[in-house]
Amino acid sequence: MTVDVNRRAVLGAAALASASLALPQIMVRAASAAVPIADAQNSGFNRFKFGEFQVTTILDGLRPGDGPHPIFGQNQSAEAVAELMEANLLPTNKFVNSFTPILVNTGSELILFDTGLGAGARENGMGQLASRMAASGYKPEDVTVVVISHMHGDHIGGLMENGAPAFANARYVMGQAEYDFWTAPERMSGPTVGGAKAVAANVKPLAEKTTFVGDGGEVVSGLGAMLAAGHTPGHLIFTVESGGKTLVLTADTANHYVASLQRPDWHVQFDADKDMAAATRRKVFDMIATDRLPFIGYHMPFPAVGYVEKLETGYRYVPETYQLDL
Ligand SMILES: [Zn+2]
Repeated sequence: MTVDVNRRAVLGAAALASASLALPQIMVRAASAAVPIADAQNSGFNRFKFGEFQVTTILDGLRPGDGPHPIFGQNQSAEAVAELMEANLLPTNKFVNSFTPILVNTGSELILFDTGLGAGARENGMGQLASRMAASGYKPEDVTVVVISHMHGDHIGGLMENGAPAFANARYVMGQAEYDFWTAPERMSGPTVGGAKAVAANVKPLAEKTTFVGDGGEVVSGLGAMLAAGHTPGHLIFTVESGGKTLVLTADTANHYVASLQRPDWHVQFDADKDMAAATRRKVFDMIATDRLPFIGYHMPFPAVGYVEKLETGYRYVPETYQLDL
């Protein structure tokens, strides 16, 4: 009995000793768990010098959703799209779309290409163009030219803020064919009605301050427009030329860095004319691959700057790393 008590006391003391030995570790763990989780987000802009110009890409937001099939590979089986995603280490039933407007400072003009989703998307974390532009050192009032590649909501949504132009001092450059398509009276019914209403609200009020261009048009010296139709009837892409170098702004020519580039012929739900969009993708990315040009794609993964390597089936997206900083 006494022995038992003693043993119990000894065991108890040992347990206490081991508990107190363990205590400092427990305290260390508790202390590290008590550090509040930081909630600051990435500042959302990326910047490089291009010849005499400065280029800033700005993340308007990210939109996770189901897919990529059938949005991408609409005319393919779900299995075929899943196989391509798996081969590229991507999930097969979810994808994240990103939206990346571009600022080009030429030294005399501050030119904004596309305006993000605007105030309507802000509660879901998008529509961040203005706040992230501020983080990059520019105010909306600093923008002298706003260029619109095409008139889908994720490109024109940020043109207006509280019913007034968001870029108060800017003039505009837009595609004539695109404007004519969306403002034709027959678009106000059927599948185009949502888009036509958005154009009526956000684009039409700016028409008097707009220069309408087509293939071969010029935004300013060194900045040219090319018609790249298919995604929409008047979809424009742009070349930025400075210091003997060329950068291509491909807008929505390819909208998923794997599905659209590795399989350019796959149909995409967002493309108005699917075959024309596929032919345009091949033409534009053949040029970019052959000439080894850097490009910025509005829906490429942020910071959305890259190159393409030609593959047998299409193109491989190669993100820009330090090439443009040297
Ligand atoms: Zn888009």
